Amino acid sequence: MEAGRSPNIKILTNAGLESLEGEAGNFTARIHREPRFIDEDLCTACGQCTMYCPVFVTDGYNEGLAITKAPHKDYAQAVPAAFYIDPKKCLFLNHETCQICVPTCQAKAIDFSQKEEWLDLNVGAVILAPGFGRISDEVLSKYGYGRFPDVVTSLEFERIMCASGPSKGEIIRPSDGKHPKKIAFLQCIGSRDLTSGNGYCSSVCCMYSIKEATIVKEHAPDTDICLFYMDMRTPGKGFDASRQRAREQYGLTFIRSRVAGISEIDDRLRLSYVDRRGHHHEEDFDMVVLSVGLESPDDAQKLAKVAGIKLNEHDFCRTQTLLPLSTTRPGVYVAGAFQGPKDIPESVMQAMGTAAAAAEVLREVRGTAIVKKEYPPEMEVAPEPRIGVLVCHCGINIGGVVNVPEVVEYAATLDNVVSADGSLYACSQDSQKGIKDMIEKHNLNRVVVAACTPRTHEPSFQEALRDAGLNRCLFEMVNIRDQCSWVHAHEPAEATAKAKDLMRMAVAKARLLYPLPEQTVPVIPKALVIGGGIAGMTAALSIAEQGFDCFLVEKSAQLGGNLRRLNTVLTGEDPKQLLSEIEDKVRSHPRIRVYTSAGIEDISGYIGNFSTTINVEDGTEQIGHGVVVLATGGKEHQVSKYLYGQSKQVLTQLELEKILSSPEEATKIHDVVMIQCAGSRGDDLSYCSKLCCGQAVKNSLKLKELNPKANVYVLYRDIRTYGFMEDYYRQAREKGVVFVEYESSNPPVVSEEGGRVAVEFTDILLGEKVKIEPSLVVLSVGVVPSDVEGLAKMLKVPLTADNFFLEAHVKLRPVELAVAGVYVCGLAHSPKPVDESISQAKAASAKACIPLAKGVVAVEPIVSSVDKDKCIGCGICESLCPFKAIRLVKADKKKKAETIAASCKGCGICASHCPTMAISMGGFTNEEIVAQIRAFGGSH
Ligand code: SF4
Repeated sequence: MEAGRSPNIKILTNAGLESLEGEAGNFTARIHREPRFIDEDLCTACGQCTMYCPVFVTDGYNEGLAITKAPHKDYAQAVPAAFYIDPKKCLFLNHETCQICVPTCQAKAIDFSQKEEWLDLNVGAVILAPGFGRISDEVLSKYGYGRFPDVVTSLEFERIMCASGPSKGEIIRPSDGKHPKKIAFLQCIGSRDLTSGNGYCSSVCCMYSIKEATIVKEHAPDTDICLFYMDMRTPGKGFDASRQRAREQYGLTFIRSRVAGISEIDDRLRLSYVDRRGHHHEEDFDMVVLSVGLESPDDAQKLAKVAGIKLNEHDFCRTQTLLPLSTTRPGVYVAGAFQGPKDIPESVMQAMGTAAAAAEVLREVRGTAIVKKEYPPEMEVAPEPRIGVLVCHCGINIGGVVNVPEVVEYAATLDNVVSADGSLYACSQDSQKGIKDMIEKHNLNRVVVAACTPRTHEPSFQEALRDAGLNRCLFEMVNIRDQCSWVHAHEPAEATAKAKDLMRMAVAKARLLYPLPEQTVPVIPKALVIGGGIAGMTAALSIAEQGFDCFLVEKSAQLGGNLRRLNTVLTGEDPKQLLSEIEDKVRSHPRIRVYTSAGIEDISGYIGNFSTTINVEDGTEQIGHGVVVLATGGKEHQVSKYLYGQSKQVLTQLELEKILSSPEEATKIHDVVMIQCAGSRGDDLSYCSKLCCGQAVKNSLKLKELNPKANVYVLYRDIRTYGFMEDYYRQAREKGVVFVEYESSNPPVVSEEGGRVAVEFTDILLGEKVKIEPSLVVLSVGVVPSDVEGLAKMLKVPLTADNFFLEAHVKLRPVELAVAGVYVCGLAHSPKPVDESISQAKAASAKACIPLAKGVVAVEPIVSSVDKDKCIGCGICESLCPFKAIRLVKADKKKKAETIAASCKGCGICASHCPTMAISMGGFTNEEIVAQIRAFGGSH
């Protein structure tokens, strides 16, 4: 939606890359574009053409579970919000007959004269993001797919669950439309399976299956759900907590097993499987969901040829661990699943990272072709409120609980409401245009939208107001999703009544809204990066390469952080070489000033204008900068169990890695027992550190390479070698590394007798205790963040319960913090391997450079303002403001409070404590709040 609105993004749909000539900085990309046969500029997405078209076609967006017509739009929020005609099905395009749609289109948008076209685009950089392909039906057929109608893929199930899907979100079996009472999810379909052609792990399936299963339980709590899995791979930030919630709160059953066969008995599906103790079971289910993996895109080979890049052995784009966003052709970058299977936050981070890479190439021409969005002049607001209301169904997300038509009808009865309507998806591009049209048609001067959270969509709605010439602060949003349909999911009448209450209160406030001025503050075009590990150095270098000065502050005496302790990476590249190269570049870059053995004594200010005091060896130094990137890193967790610190034979993975850097030392090692999750996942640390399984596999392979006779045992709970790491896990098994599962309730015991360590554990399959006396016990201890509490307090940024920095939005804003102008990357955000840290650092630099490049930032208008006549200069506000956003200044020899608008977060603490009520909040005046409270108790 945001991309669709930007005047600087030209979206070419139905288009593909035909050729790519030239080099970084000067490519000619030839684009072939198929016609839509509907003019996207004229189409209003009214849907009239679909009503009259006689041709039904399979709805591909709904995975073939529904039908649509030859002219259609894939989904409600599709961008552009315009229809297109399926050229394979249209009667006119195939048989030169019909054309019924032409006269039905009032906008005269149907255009059968459109022809395919070729465009030559001169571009400096190219980003490939073609997404992923599908697991073949042949692979799926092994699980009864295609034979048994109630065996569906997870993608089909996603559509079945979706409000805009074929059953409007009602979870039903395709065979008979009944509600399934017992559902099985089968993991690793088309993944981790050489017989399917895909040896790698698809990374996302465990988590999306938990999500889908949890949603089913929310809608139908009495449904039994079993997930059949090999390893539960939920290593992302907060993912294990979701898994735990799914088990404890929603009662999902997790069975570690690969299902051997599915048959249909009567109208149910019989699964046969062997559990981890070797016992055979047969169990009947109403429905089976195949958790399908991610393939490389169908046209990967063709795209690689055209773009002049190489693919890896799985037909995904070839990259290197230490250059995760670069293809084999300079100036061509890759983001998302084409680089390797990954989830949404990781894809978003990569996309931002490639934007930084492209911005580095384009820095000389920055700003030369920018189109600035122009808004119509703001209208004078007439004293009489004329309020328009839009109530969103959000598919069934809201509409499945709240009676939206009833809320619309109610809103229409409220004083000053001159227009009230419902919308299936208020956030869709056509609905946004609808708001603008509604304002113009009814001469509105206030708008209320009842939908989901303002955090996500309020800016889009406000943009629609600006497009119509209204000040964006004449907008009020009601969250009837979180506050009504979600929390009262099983009380529709009460949820609807509450939605009406909230609507009445919002309208009462809206009557009193008044325009607030847009303000901007200048930006110091410099960045501060805190932390000189690989993430910090990558961010600093990217910012500098994008053309901005950067201060890089590292607390230790040298740059490099944890990378300095790595001798190898799984893919065989040399981290020492990368470290030396990047350190040289950072230290010699004219735009980067490096401070080592330095600390942050104080940071104050706001986006665009931060002031920082740096402790250096011979005193302090004061710097000014516009943005901050936090790359404060992490370190190995210090466990106090398994005899760590007591026996010299007990090491961490990083300590083993050091030994393995000496081949001579490696030959002295005979048996090694590695213990995974030592202190993690519910022990000292609640979370999974994501990188330890890869580390264990890497060190196992290295040891086997240096000393093939060494016996390596890896004791694990789940081996989480997601993505292409799985290839190395398989290699390790082939080379004789023994992986043995243990239960968290029965962890291995490490003891020492007569100077020798012993590890005792229970082999679940054999049901027997096993004792090994290895030469080394190696603990995968996980990662903890650096000590950042002081820094977080200075910047007023939130931390998670585990002391990692908390991003503003997991998916949409994964490198931004709640405080504007502050960004995060690397281990400071969450534990992650080095390639993901590098991608995230690039992403943070991309975001940080936006205000630096613009030179100004817009300040949120909802800030405090002081009535100087009422202010008595008591200073209570100044002492209480947590953001240092209010100060006392001298005016006519008296002290008066004054707001620093760019620092103010609109929290209202000052206003609520002012003894003379001299401070009010824009958008939350006393009158507005009182009107809301009165409306709560009243009827209109
Ligand atoms: S020409 Fe006929 S078949 Fe083709 S899209 Fe229009 S109505 Fe449908």
